[in-house]
Amino acid sequence: MWNELQRSIFAAECARAGAPPLAPMGLRMVGPVIMGFGTPEQKAHYLPRILSGEDYWCQGYSEPGAGSDLAALQLRAVSDGDDYVLSGSKIWTTHAQFANRMFCLVRTSTEGKLQAGITFLLLDMQTPGISVKPIITLAGEHEVNQVFFDAVRVPKSGRIGAENQGWTVAKHLLEFERGGGSAPRAPSGAGPRPDHRRRRGRRQPGLPPPAG
Ligand SMILES: Cc1cc2nc3c(=O)[nH]c(=O)nc-3n(C[C@H](O)[C@H](O)[C@H](O)COP(=O)(O)OP(=O)(O)OC[C@H]3O[C@@H](n4cnc5c(N)ncnc54)[C@H](O)[C@@H]3O)c2cc1C
Repeated sequence: MWNELQRSIFAAECARAGAPPLAPMGLRMVGPVIMGFGTPEQKAHYLPRILSGEDYWCQGYSEPGAGSDLAALQLRAVSDGDDYVLSGSKIWTTHAQFANRMFCLVRTSTEGKLQAGITFLLLDMQTPGISVKPIITLAGEHEVNQVFFDAVRVPKSGRIGAENQGWTVAKHLLEFERGGGSAPRAPSGAGPRPDHRRRRGRRQPGLPPPAG
């Protein structure tokens, strides 16, 4: 895996060449998490699909009552055999309308510290019970969404790390989201700047939708 200097050099060269930005949520966010915490089966399944672009990911962290205070998240995941049953909603989910996969944080326990009851889960956006409601910004753009979960069954094989250890996984992801997610600006006269749109909050939104 590249270190920060290597990632910075790659990003600088891409920017210098005017290359389009790569979708960060698979390559820069959930990919390193799967490499660090995934089982051999999860690595074999997901990593090639991230590299090929076959899977397009969205990030299900924020909730209506849990933004900056992320540990307050409430989306409930109740254990039922080989599945979790999810109920609740996520908000500000960039490109949920395009994504076929979501990595998310869910609440698997309400005991003890808030952080100690969170689990990191991968899911298929086509699963019955998921609905995506657009949020149109003041600029008239459809980039973010609210995603509703109504008794959605998610196989436990999609869990990354142990149950209730999701906060540790999320902190690992943060290193790549914050540390490696942004490309430097191209120096003046070094070719066109890539189409980096605004970046606010935790997100690096504004990427083009996947082809097809
Ligand atoms: C364009 C865009 C795309 C996004 N995409 C995603 C996504 O794909 N997935 C996802 O999970 N989330 C996404 N987010 C959510 C984002 O990353 C933040 O979690 C969210 O914007 C912050 O939560 P909130 O909006 O509820 O604000 P709040 O947490 O309510 O904060 C509101 C204001 O209060 C301030 N504040 C909060 N707490 C304190 C405190 N203790 N002390 C002082 N000031 C405080 C904040 O700095 C902020 O200015 C996106 C946000 C934007 C704007």
